[in-house]
Amino acid sequence: MAKQIILVPDIGDYTDVPVIEVLIKVGDVIEKEQPLLVLESDKATMEVPADTAGTILSISVKAGDKVGKGSIVAEVETGAVATPQAVAPVSPLAPPAPITPPVAIPAISAPSAGQYSGKVDHECEVLVLGAGPGGYSAAFRSADLGKSTILVERYAKLGGVCLNVGCIPSKALLHTTSVMDEVKTMSKHGISYGAPKIEIDQLRGYKDSVIAKLTGGLAGMAKARKVSVVRGLGRFLDANHVEVELTQGDGQDLAGKKEVVRFQRAIIAAGSQPVKLPFLPEDPRIVDSTGALLLKSIPKRMLVIGGGIIGLEMATVYSGLGSRIDIAEMMDGLMAGADRDLEKVWEKFNAGRFENIMLKTRATKAEVKADGIQVSFEGENAPSEPQIYDLVLVAVGRTPNGKKIDASAAGVMVDERGFISVDNQMRTNVNTIFAIGDIVGQPMLAHKAVHEGHVAAEVAAGEKSYFDAKQIPSVAYTDPEVAWAGLTEDQCKAQGIAYEKGLFPWAASGRAIANGRDEGFTKLIFDATSKRIIGGGIVGTHAGDLIGEVCLAIEMGADAVDIGKTIHPHPTLGESVGLAAEAALGHCTDLPPVKKK
Ligand code: FAD
Repeated sequence: MAKQIILVPDIGDYTDVPVIEVLIKVGDVIEKEQPLLVLESDKATMEVPADTAGTILSISVKAGDKVGKGSIVAEVETGAVATPQAVAPVSPLAPPAPITPPVAIPAISAPSAGQYSGKVDHECEVLVLGAGPGGYSAAFRSADLGKSTILVERYAKLGGVCLNVGCIPSKALLHTTSVMDEVKTMSKHGISYGAPKIEIDQLRGYKDSVIAKLTGGLAGMAKARKVSVVRGLGRFLDANHVEVELTQGDGQDLAGKKEVVRFQRAIIAAGSQPVKLPFLPEDPRIVDSTGALLLKSIPKRMLVIGGGIIGLEMATVYSGLGSRIDIAEMMDGLMAGADRDLEKVWEKFNAGRFENIMLKTRATKAEVKADGIQVSFEGENAPSEPQIYDLVLVAVGRTPNGKKIDASAAGVMVDERGFISVDNQMRTNVNTIFAIGDIVGQPMLAHKAVHEGHVAAEVAAGEKSYFDAKQIPSVAYTDPEVAWAGLTEDQCKAQGIAYEKGLFPWAASGRAIANGRDEGFTKLIFDATSKRIIGGGIVGTHAGDLIGEVCLAIEMGADAVDIGKTIHPHPTLGESVGLAAEAALGHCTDLPPVKKK
């Protein structure tokens, strides 16, 4: 053990720079390169990193002090064994990350609970655990940055939940049922078709072919980038080694062999799995989203437990195929997170589509009977008698896989729910180990995982990247679609943010009327003080595709004039974004005149 003083390093031309935050306290165990202070000059915000690992004995600065090169920051006792510390999770709306001066990637200094010294089968600079959208994007970015990269995945096909049992298969089926629905409306145009004949094996085959096309493409791209894939179940042995229990076949069948990968940096992208309800018995007629997507048969009567996006998308698919659907939702509304005005349009449009939407109602018991699954309910809208269903879909959320990878052997903190906390560079409490995607928290969405994967790979390669997104969009690919980005009106109200709104009803959109689908609207939310856009929501056909422009406007800090004066093509649904901005400015010539006060 030795004592060492940590000084402010050369920070360029800056002198007397105010300290805006002290990130450490006495007794903290710090790692080399860990940020200690945040300084803010009139030109830049920068962090002061530790030049040694150790335990903080005393701190010589406080917020508000001014420092320059050579100012004493703290005294540390070096040589202490560090223990993991939690780091704050990243808020999706967190302000832009501080700009730190470039630092070389430190030599491996991560605290390690385990100490592996056995045989090694593979070596790489960057190991990525899990090949979902987060993992493969991180691995590909890492390889593009010139790092030797190994991707560990238990399943034969890359792509994780999203490509194999999530985003993609659900959208393939939603496309099919939306065409079926649209065809039905053609009789109003004088075009009639016969009743649809559903060949379920062929439909399943179509869905599987979509998955195969995409996952095959990923395998090719991994090869082209020289990303090696080690197929098996990975678990940490220490902060530099993962043991992979090799798997074979399509699933997770063990091959009876283990291999060890030594790495310099690791990116954990092990994802999540569906939450199980403990009172439900094991029966093939009780499924999660993965089971529902197998499309084994079309049930006559189906219960969907959970009125979130996944439950509603699957309910849309099965009702389109002819199932009679009940939905049970504990909360007082469906599609949590979306503003109610958006959801109400969906609800009105779907009034006849589902048999019963039971809000404030919980499924409490299920019994396996010869003629189906008998489910009992409790709550405001519970049926008086238990109901029999041919299929029960449980869609009550997803739980992270953090407890299944022996992260503690590497010194990585995992919370009691299985989430791993990260900072805005996707670093865990261990400097050389990153985590991304569903395993680091909400929203559990593929596009968030991809962007986090890029940041982690870039930081692991020594780049100064940050995850500082101003918005992460959400989309329910139902009929109509519901999409929102940035702050919702509900969030503005809850956070006391003064806002202004521009709303363009699709009843005034030439294209929506021509399409026979004018039930929707587009709304934009602007900060009342800065006048910049801070959020937006769209309900209507293709809302998920349209929300991209709102996302860009938020990231670019656009105001209503920027958006309204952008010439949008006519006649399109996309026009509604420009027209909503004009509505916010009070002069939209496609709407009736604003009444003068
Ligand atoms: P995952 O996709 O979960 O991938 C993790 C990977 O790690 C898996 O391949 C897993 O096998 C592997 N793995 C885990 N542990 C180990 C281990 N120990 N060893 C080796 N490998 C391991 N998101 C959207 O943005 N849009 C949508 O439309 C959408 N639709 C969805 C529909 C459904 C039905 C579902 C279930 C999800 C949907 N999602 C959607 C969510 C999206 O799929 C996830 O947010 C996304 O897949 C998370 O990516 P990830 O990389 O974090 O993890």
